Amino acid sequence: MTVLNSTAQRDIENLAHPYTNLATHPEVGPTVIVRGKGVTVWDDQGKDYIEGMAGLWCTAFGYGEEALIEAAAEQMRKLAYTHLFAGKSHEPAIELAEKLKEIAPLPVSKVLFACSGSESNDTLLKLIWYYNNAKGRPEKKKIVSRHKAYHGVTVASASLTGLAPVQRDFDLPMNDRFLYTDCPHYYHGAEPGESAEDFAGRMAANLETLIETEGPETIAAMFAEPIMGAGGAIVPPATYFEKIQPILEKHDILLVTDEVICGFGRTANMFGCETFNMKPDFMTVAKALSSGYLPISAVTIPEPVFEAMQDESRKIGTFGHGYTYGGHPVSAAVAVKALELYEKRNILGHVREMEPIFQTRLKALEDHPLVGEAVGRGLIGGIELVADKKAKRNFDTRHGVAGYCAARCHHRGLVVRPLAGDRIAVCPPLIINEAEINELFDRYSRALDDTLDHVTKNKLTAA
Ligand code: PMP
Repeated sequence: MTVLNSTAQRDIENLAHPYTNLATHPEVGPTVIVRGKGVTVWDDQGKDYIEGMAGLWCTAFGYGEEALIEAAAEQMRKLAYTHLFAGKSHEPAIELAEKLKEIAPLPVSKVLFACSGSESNDTLLKLIWYYNNAKGRPEKKKIVSRHKAYHGVTVASASLTGLAPVQRDFDLPMNDRFLYTDCPHYYHGAEPGESAEDFAGRMAANLETLIETEGPETIAAMFAEPIMGAGGAIVPPATYFEKIQPILEKHDILLVTDEVICGFGRTANMFGCETFNMKPDFMTVAKALSSGYLPISAVTIPEPVFEAMQDESRKIGTFGHGYTYGGHPVSAAVAVKALELYEKRNILGHVREMEPIFQTRLKALEDHPLVGEAVGRGLIGGIELVADKKAKRNFDTRHGVAGYCAARCHHRGLVVRPLAGDRIAVCPPLIINEAEINELFDRYSRALDDTLDHVTKNKLTAA
């Protein structure tokens, strides 16, 4: 039992934590983070950690970035709050929409703001349904997502999220409009001797079968993360999207790229869809849009969809959607500054320079006896811990091996994120330098050795 200081006591008595085992939290206690600088954060005991997850995959510029802090303070002094309802507007939202249109790798007519990744995906779902009603095809409403996808936790976006804990016992998915196609994870999904290319082809064929079984006239869109984040940092085969796209086009199904994690340089291109040759109709962005400094997200709307929204407005008299804080002026001012910094500081160039260093150290973890797969792109990656490398067999889930390893990382001063299937994600601030990358992986390697000792000593095995 941890000795609790008073901050920990107050936490336990008063806070309900998201994505936490609430039954064991009172014994385990919180880690209270009190400050951050660059890629490092400190807890209330003075211990330092490399923030290997950039918070929740979001703090691209790390901690204490004065330019962002100043942008917030300046806007707050000038106009702390106003909104975009009923034709009201403000300069930060206008400028941010302009800048997003400029850098978006797809045709955009308008930008609609929300506050979180979940809200942006939720909003886009509504827009797609609204669009198909306006187009006079009310039966074309089903949405294809993927097993292990993560698109959020609101009632609609959690219905897109293909992870059991997000749905089970919440009575989700909300209805039978949500379909799930394969997770394109070659490591586990490939048949013996199947190449990555053939595997991608089979994923596409399975998608087409699903579409034909359900009826293409009932399917409106497919949502996809370029790299699946919370589902396990899963990188699809290189030709995956090239193969599924013609099938979507053939059946008049729209493609959404969820850039909530992959957007703004994470995969060594400005957007993840560019890295994987996706040709999406819509994108949603959040997180690194403001470097996580304030909540803001956005949906891009192509011209035909915007025209349909205008038609509906003519009919109904308004566009009946909006959040009090959507496009909040302080968040928008910080995001405008963040977009300026991405360009001015050539963050993309930096990520491209760091990518080989980061990915080489990540790949080298595959030499460790516990690591079955270590993959990534740009400055994001995942590893999978296995009991049997040859048979690709996982440990019995009751052993909680990835959780143990993440706890050892924590002990060694590194924040990583254990995910389902004994996968562990790493996704540091984009400003991380070579020495910091090496220190991150040195700590990671020590934690893996600790985990191997634990597994050996306790004779932990596959299920
Ligand atoms: N989409 C993706 C790809 C995400 O990773 C997340 C959050 N991790 C979301 C959507 C939901 O974002 P939020 O937590 O801001 O609602």
